[in-house]
Amino acid sequence: MGKINYDNSLLFAKEMDEKDPLTHYKNQFHIPKINGKTQLYFCGNSLGLQPKITQEYIQQELDDWSKLGVEGHTDAKNPWKPYHEFLTENMAEIVGAKPLEVVMMNTLSVNLHLMMVSFYQPTKKKRKIIIEKDAFPSDKYAVESQIKFHGFDPKADLILWEPREDYYHLDDLEKLLKENADEVALILIGVPNYYTGQTFDLKKITKLGHTHNALVGFDLAHGAGNIQPNLHDSQADFAVWCSYKYLNSGPGSVGGCFVHEKHADNINLNRFAGWWGHNKETRFNMRQEFDPIKGAEGWQLSNPPILSLAAIRASLAVFKEAGFENIREKSKKLTGFLEFLLEDIKGDAIKIITPKNPTERGCQLSVELKSAGKDFFKDLTAAGVIADWREPNVIRLAPIPLYNSFEDVFLLVEKIKSLLD
Ligand SMILES: *Cc1c(COP(=O)(O)O)cnc(C)c1O
Repeated sequence: MGKINYDNSLLFAKEMDEKDPLTHYKNQFHIPKINGKTQLYFCGNSLGLQPKITQEYIQQELDDWSKLGVEGHTDAKNPWKPYHEFLTENMAEIVGAKPLEVVMMNTLSVNLHLMMVSFYQPTKKKRKIIIEKDAFPSDKYAVESQIKFHGFDPKADLILWEPREDYYHLDDLEKLLKENADEVALILIGVPNYYTGQTFDLKKITKLGHTHNALVGFDLAHGAGNIQPNLHDSQADFAVWCSYKYLNSGPGSVGGCFVHEKHADNINLNRFAGWWGHNKETRFNMRQEFDPIKGAEGWQLSNPPILSLAAIRASLAVFKEAGFENIREKSKKLTGFLEFLLEDIKGDAIKIITPKNPTERGCQLSVELKSAGKDFFKDLTAAGVIADWREPNVIRLAPIPLYNSFEDVFLLVEKIKSLLD
């Protein structure tokens, strides 16, 4: 991407929209209206918007269920027995993985626990876990409870990677690994960090971890559908994500899980098993010893909720059609425009705490309010903006390339400016 000479004008924003090859996708989404007024929606990092085709995809399964009952497992237009497989290829592409390495199942925190059953097997000597200081609360609770479950003490064994001057630095992570030489069993990092929006080089973190004999997993709740994590190439041991943020698959929809190919048929790993992870040929004989499917599918427990998978399938079809590289390309321009406009605001009422370097962030910008507080956010909401507030003083704004326009971004910053005045 060449450097863009942004201009602070509505005319410029409209020109960018006209030139944008993805501009028509906005029309393929339901944009929320409150009291008849279409909102400026910048909260796709919390709950992505609904593609218009989602209803059709779900309706298809409701129709087949009403017509076929149980026979739908094999005779539905999209048979339910292998339904999760219909998602795999498109999902794998978005996270840069091989289909063998990816499965949609459960929800994020559940998958995180299942992954730790396999990839966090502490010993007295090697039992520590490293996470970011500002990790998402669910991730922190999950790792603390795993440490306790194994009879250890999170106060001693959970190590926090602290940011310095707003950003996380890899050399600090390396220092932690050296200070705790051979005692770290697992590194788990959120990519991007949900609070600051800083993203990381997964390959470098994995290499650091593996050099120090620690396994490495990533939480891509804010990464999947936002940045390209190149999971396979990163050599990460595992990753988990949800589908309701950037992946637009509806509240509480099923999550994703990645297990690197190198672990695909390692039957010596601990795992919590269920019948859906069992060899498909003999699954319905109901009598065999557990025989896990090779790859990520072997970690499935239950037959999955088809209505939720239908919503994911619809959303992935939109991603496929638009092309993830094109989405990412627009994302950089759109976020760059938001940054340019915010920096053009006079005075020092706000500060962007997300890295400036486009390779160190996805589309979210976290904006720290220097003088205003939560009332400002309430006024912004009343003015027709849906964004996200994080205590003590941060507003997270995510311009989503599939359904936000350059004009949306311009109008957002105009509202912020007039409220600051
Ligand atoms: C959104 C989010 C979660 C949510 O977990 P669920 O199990 O889907 O409720 C977990 N971790 C991170 C980093 C998140 O951003």
